[in-house]
Formats: sequence, C-alpha cells, structure tokens
Amino acid sequence: MPADASMLTPQMPPGPRLRFAPSPNGLLHLGHAYSALLTNQTARALGGEFCLRIEDIDRDRAKSEHIAAITRDLHWLGLSWPTPPRRQSEHMDDYKHYITRLTGLGLLYPCFASRGEIRRALAAGAAANADARDSSDTDPDGAPLYPAIYKHLPEQQAKKRIAAGEPFALRLHMDKAIALAESLGDGTARTAFSYTQFDPPASGTTAPAAIRAIPINPARWGDVIIARKDIATSYHLAVVVDDHLEGVTHIVRGRDLEAATDIHRLLQIILGFTPPLYHHHELVLIDGEKLSKSRQHPDLFSLRQQGITAAAIIRAAKDGPAALSRFLP
Ligand code: GLU
Repeated sequence: MPADASMLTPQMPPGPRLRFAPSPNGLLHLGHAYSALLTNQTARALGGEFCLRIEDIDRDRAKSEHIAAITRDLHWLGLSWPTPPRRQSEHMDDYKHYITRLTGLGLLYPCFASRGEIRRALAAGAAANADARDSSDTDPDGAPLYPAIYKHLPEQQAKKRIAAGEPFALRLHMDKAIALAESLGDGTARTAFSYTQFDPPASGTTAPAAIRAIPINPARWGDVIIARKDIATSYHLAVVVDDHLEGVTHIVRGRDLEAATDIHRLLQIILGFTPPLYHHHELVLIDGEKLSKSRQHPDLFSLRQQGITAAAIIRAAKDGPAALSRFLP
C-alpha cells in the first residue's frame, strides 16, 4: 500500500493524454464508438496520447469476456493504445489512499442505510412535505437526494456498528466539502468553482477550438457516495484518482456525464489535483433515447455481422453522433 502522497504523483511524460474509459459491463455500442473515435482524433490533433482504461470496479457486472470484446471492437475501429491498459480493479489501494485522506479531512461519514431504509425515509419526508416538493428533491440523474439518515449519527455509535461488522458506504459531507473547496480556491471562491470546457480542434488544426469556464454546482448532488458498501470506492472517486494518476489532460466523454463533472471538479480541488479540460459530446440517440446495453440496443459486433464496415462508422463519426444513428434500426 502506498505510504504517502508522493507515491501517488503521476509519473507520466508531459504532453496531452486522453483516455477512453469504458465499464466492461457489456458490449460496446455506437455511442462508445463515437466517444472512442472522437477521443482518439482529439489526441492526435493535440499531438498527444490515446489511452484505454477499464473501469471494472463493479465486480458483479464487469466480465473478462467483455474486456476481450471491447479490445476486439476498438482494434476493429483502428484504435491502439499503450498496453496494458489501467484496470481499476487492480488499483484499489490508490482509492483507499484517497479515502483515507478525505476521512482525515473530516469529509466522509459512514452510512448504513439499506435501499429500503432510504425509500422509507424518502416516503416519510415526502408525506411530511407534501405541499413543499420541488425539483431539488432529485439529483441531476433524477435519483432522489439522500435523506441524510446517518449524517448525524454520533461517532461512537457508528464505530460500534462498524466493529460489529455492519456493512456501510462512505458518503461525502457535501456542505463541508464545498466549504473546504471554497477556502482552497484562489481567494475568489466563486470564480474558482468552475471547470474548463474545450472544443476539440477543428480538422487540420492543433489547438482546442474554444475554451470556457463552466460553473459547477456540486450541492445539487447531495451527499454522494464516495465508497460503496460492496466495493470500497465509487465511480466518482476512482475516475478522479485515475485521471490524476494517469496524467490525463483532456477528457472527452458524453453529455450524460456532464453534470457529474461538478463532483469530479470538487474532488480535484480538495485533493489538489491538476484539473483536466473537459469536452462533453452529444450522444448517439435511438428514438430520442441514449443507447443502452440493458435495453438491448444493437452493439458494434452485431452491426459488424450485418456487414457494416469500420470505415463507414469512422466516416460517419466525423459528421457527429447524429450521423451514426443511421446505422440503427
Ligand atoms: N466508465 C464510464 C462509462 O462507461 C465513463 C467514465 C468517464 O468517461 O468519465 O460510462
């Protein structure tokens, strides 16, 4: 296990570095293909490196056959990357290191709540406030905000339950985290509370097309989970730590992750990480919805079996995600 923070400093050669970071929970679809191709194209335009990262912390859903299929499909699209790619499941100590740091800052608290307990607390809260409901009841993904059941549990009681082996998640004290981040800013708290968005270089050019500051509003997420009950980290923590340790300079990903950048930037400020620039691209839609493995939207491999070529996908991707929709039924 790393003994100190200096061991977790990125040891990467300087220069632009971009990553495509799929979760191996299923096969890649056209949305992934667009994201990977745009990331690669941006890396090339910036004279940087394209990396693959396997986001496989969810042990129940991540499968090695999916990693093999992801590799096969990305190679089919003509992409290559330094090997082996970083696999999150092999770096749990890194996440532990930063959880210890956030705990030391007093920013995390154990939450023992089951889903049922949360549902009941939400229902009771909703009944009590039947007239006062507003849109702030849900986070940007539409999930109900955590009803703070264990937020104020006395430390002794929490310790006792942990010692008794009760499973718990670690949640961020969002209010304290924001206050700390504001105090760590450049003295003008509100202006530091933003991330930098960029547009990929236009064809034939090498500099980002536009750069702008986007204000963040992490409070709208409530006390997010930083370490899950079952896996001792979370998407938010792992992605921020990996982007730091891999020296990622530019992040290209779908608009569905745009709001989550609030949390990622907040963690970067608190942990003192150099922030990457972000580009959130439009999604490939089917009947107005984003593609999803669970809804059995066609994957890249089945499109390939139907005779669609990689060259056709690469060509269409240059015209944007909407152009890829024509390969869908
Ligand atoms: N693993 C995430 C996904 O497959 C992407 C993470 C990211 O790009 O930040 O949706």
